[in-house]
Amino acid sequence: MKILFLMFMTLFVALVSGTSPASVIIVGAGMSGISAAKKLQESGIHDFLILEATNRIAGRIHKTQFGGHTVEKGANWLHGVGGPEKNPMFEIAKTIKLKNYYSDFSNVSLNTYKQEGGKYPKEEVEAALSKTESNEEFGTEFAEKLSANKDVDDDMSLLAAERLNNMEPKTPLERMVDFYSFDGEQAEAPRVTSLKHVLPRPEYSLYGEGEYFVADERGFEGIVHEIAKTCLAYKDGRVIDARLYYNKVVTEIEYSVTGVTIKTEDGKVFHARTAIISPSVGVLQSNLIKFKPELPLWKRRAIDEFSLGIYTKIFLKFPRKFWPTGPGTEFFFYVHERRGYYAIWQQLENEYPGSNIMFVTVADQESIRIEQQPDEETKAEIMEVLRKIFGKHIPDATDIMIPRWNSDRLYKGTFSNWPAGYTDEKHDHLRAPIGSLYFTGEHTHRELFGYADGAYFAGADTAKDVINCIKRQVCKGKVNMNI
Ligand SMILES: Cc1cc2nc3c(=O)[nH]c(=O)nc-3n(C[C@H](O)[C@H](O)[C@H](O)COP(=O)(O)OP(=O)(O)OC[C@H]3O[C@@H](n4cnc5c(N)ncnc54)[C@H](O)[C@@H]3O)c2cc1C
Repeated sequence: MKILFLMFMTLFVALVSGTSPASVIIVGAGMSGISAAKKLQESGIHDFLILEATNRIAGRIHKTQFGGHTVEKGANWLHGVGGPEKNPMFEIAKTIKLKNYYSDFSNVSLNTYKQEGGKYPKEEVEAALSKTESNEEFGTEFAEKLSANKDVDDDMSLLAAERLNNMEPKTPLERMVDFYSFDGEQAEAPRVTSLKHVLPRPEYSLYGEGEYFVADERGFEGIVHEIAKTCLAYKDGRVIDARLYYNKVVTEIEYSVTGVTIKTEDGKVFHARTAIISPSVGVLQSNLIKFKPELPLWKRRAIDEFSLGIYTKIFLKFPRKFWPTGPGTEFFFYVHERRGYYAIWQQLENEYPGSNIMFVTVADQESIRIEQQPDEETKAEIMEVLRKIFGKHIPDATDIMIPRWNSDRLYKGTFSNWPAGYTDEKHDHLRAPIGSLYFTGEHTHRELFGYADGAYFAGADTAKDVINCIKRQVCKGKVNMNI
């Protein structure tokens, strides 16, 4: 009832004045923006607006229809079970009974194919895997030593740690296993990735091992909707809250210590006391949003030096199944002299029996290359790889879907990666408020950057700062305004 009344008032004022007064404007309705809205609502701050560039909530969590089934263009896996902490994503998934399936990655050594076809002997793959395990163990111990020294913010790349361990991957097979272990998680190569901030990935130490693949017609975004229902008005499963504005691409943010004026591409102007900025670090690195005054150098450096990886799941539908199914066959791997060339494959027989759908994951430079070429060219490359693996007789894919996260001006990539040498102080700057501007998004979470749970916590943390400012006049942003 309260929510409906507020919706009405907001609409009324907006119609009368042509502007929208608010305590807070949240830019972006992804996981972090919605999580921030939930926190504001819980604290009694109801006069917030959300300006979302697209016509949906959830951002990089994005289901779509493909080959008669719901697949995820974006976030897909829920991380960890049985650890000391509970993953909030998993808890919500449980509440709404979101279908998810344990991903069995244990069969790499049995299902790894050579560049020209034929499987690698199990022992050879196991040798490559043990090299990567050794790198992970050595790197984790070394990362602990680096973190233990609180006087110096010392770091190195994952690749440097592999070299220190005398285990730099050299052969195409070793590079594929390395790609699967590191690029497959960070969406960037060990050459650029921070040792200290990714070994071990905190998701596993906090929540426990294991990854669970969401395959449900409500999509992974069902989790975002479940959170949104706590703070936005819904009818028939759709958000009808007048405080959420769709199709509002923010292009200009004028800010001071006391307020913000936000302009959108369609010429609308919004005013508020504070703003929470949630688009990806890639969007902040682009010129889509112009800040007035320009953000200070320390802030721009913190933004520009952080990294947004690119991770692409290419979905394919076939007229019939020609790959093995059953236990231990969910994943298979392809080794090519070019690192990460159509390396990681997953078939969806487990999740969608009889669907004849599978997908291949590429990342980083391969993602960029593939985004730039026509789908037909990518399909031809993929069919060549599959024919090397399964033989010349296999049918062509009847459908292909290639998400283009990097080319999309509203994302510019998929999830953030902590670059080697990027200091904790810089990361403090990345999330630090300036005047009335507060920053959130997965990239602003110190430990859980990159993934959906990080976005969830980041949104709540930023909202807490805003609440402190509005309700208790403890405004962190004032401190930084003139630096
Ligand atoms: C391919 C892929 C695979 C992934 N896999 C996993 C996984 O398996 N598990 C996992 O936990 N996480 C995964 N993630 C990461 C996870 O999806 C993100 O960390 C999380 O969704 C980020 O939420 P966010 O709110 O920080 O950002 P976003 O989701 O990007 O939200 C920001 C919102 O701002 C909007 N916006 C952008 N620019 C503007 C503008 N100028 N004006 C107004 N609105 C704007 C966007 O449309 C978006 O809705 C994956 C992501 C991708 C893309």
